[in-house]
Amino acid sequence: MSRAEIVVDLAAIRHNVTLIREHVRTPVMTIVKADAYGHGMVEVAHAAKRAGAEWLGAATPDEAVTLRRSGLGGPILCWLSNEHDDFDDAVGHDIDLSSYSIAETEAIGDAGRRVDLLPRVQLKIDTGLSRGGVPRQLWAETCAHAAAGERDGRWRITGIWSHLASSDDPTDPANSVQEERFTAAVDQARAAGLEPEVTHLANSAAALLRPSSRFNLVRVGIATYGLDPAPDHSAEVLGEDWPLVPAMTVRAELVMAKGIAAGDAVSYNHTWTAEKPTVLGLVPIGYGEGISRRAGNTAEVLVNGARAPIRGRICMDQFMVETSRGASAGDEVLIFGPGTHGEPTAQDWARATGTISYEIVTQIGGRMDRVYVDSTGGARWA
Ligand SMILES: *Cc1c(COP(=O)(O)O)cnc(C)c1O
Repeated sequence: MSRAEIVVDLAAIRHNVTLIREHVRTPVMTIVKADAYGHGMVEVAHAAKRAGAEWLGAATPDEAVTLRRSGLGGPILCWLSNEHDDFDDAVGHDIDLSSYSIAETEAIGDAGRRVDLLPRVQLKIDTGLSRGGVPRQLWAETCAHAAAGERDGRWRITGIWSHLASSDDPTDPANSVQEERFTAAVDQARAAGLEPEVTHLANSAAALLRPSSRFNLVRVGIATYGLDPAPDHSAEVLGEDWPLVPAMTVRAELVMAKGIAAGDAVSYNHTWTAEKPTVLGLVPIGYGEGISRRAGNTAEVLVNGARAPIRGRICMDQFMVETSRGASAGDEVLIFGPGTHGEPTAQDWARATGTISYEIVTQIGGRMDRVYVDSTGGARWA
């Protein structure tokens, strides 16, 4: 193997998509933005479709077009563009584009005329996240404009959607407020003459934990990758050990192992000092590969079957761990993975570094290669 690599198990992706579909019993849009949260957009999208995902979702039109060009049929939604963008390519590839304003709907309509195709447009309403979307006070006129353009054959309004602020806490009353506003917005759109194929509000946490948020499509990102979207609340609803399988493993080979004496301090600024003779292993990745500096003296890895705590600061290309069992150059280090060999998970790293698992897997990369395995195909990597 190479010095360090990211291993993505496509069987885990398919398993998770299947598990989610059986649980939500609603069509699923698998979200593959940001290179599928660091897992590889095209590979994950094909695996998700194989497992039955009806829709694919990405943030930008460019991501959506890349998916289409990779040979994926079926509906693909994106939602991060503005009225000055060139929509010709996306409309030409039959991408569902989200509109946040009358001006943006118009720009998409103009692209449709140029490429001679009927654009598919989804209107996004801001129900309370205060991020993208049509402000509520402009919703009525936005719908009236959309309906008029639809009657004129300029576009088809295929969906109405919104996004939740606090779905990772299903008991937060903000969820009910947003659901009610969304229901009212869909009613208003229908009253204006729109007939959306899909109405959707839920991300992973809402899809799994709040049945009332599912409408007729759910947008599932993080759970696809086997990570818990609501680590403080999901067990209450799904029980302990709901069997999502983390798809990403990050592993490396030790560059060297060596003893240091009691009193020796480790890495930049000597933030950790050995109290007794200690064996250190040198791991050849660092913040250049997306290993957060906040992991210094907090996170752990697995070396030769035992947890090895990080000692001292994370450097750009390397960091040091304390190995309780013997270690030598070339030994395998599991940074994180599904946890089946005793290694930490991305969620463990998130907790150790004060963030969410989304950020852990999305940041990982840098100089590491990504390789794909299919654990049901016989060829296991470990
Ligand atoms: C990223 C994103 C999602 C997926 O969220 P998860 O919490 O990862 O399931 C869904 N919808 C929108 C608009 C997003 O930006």
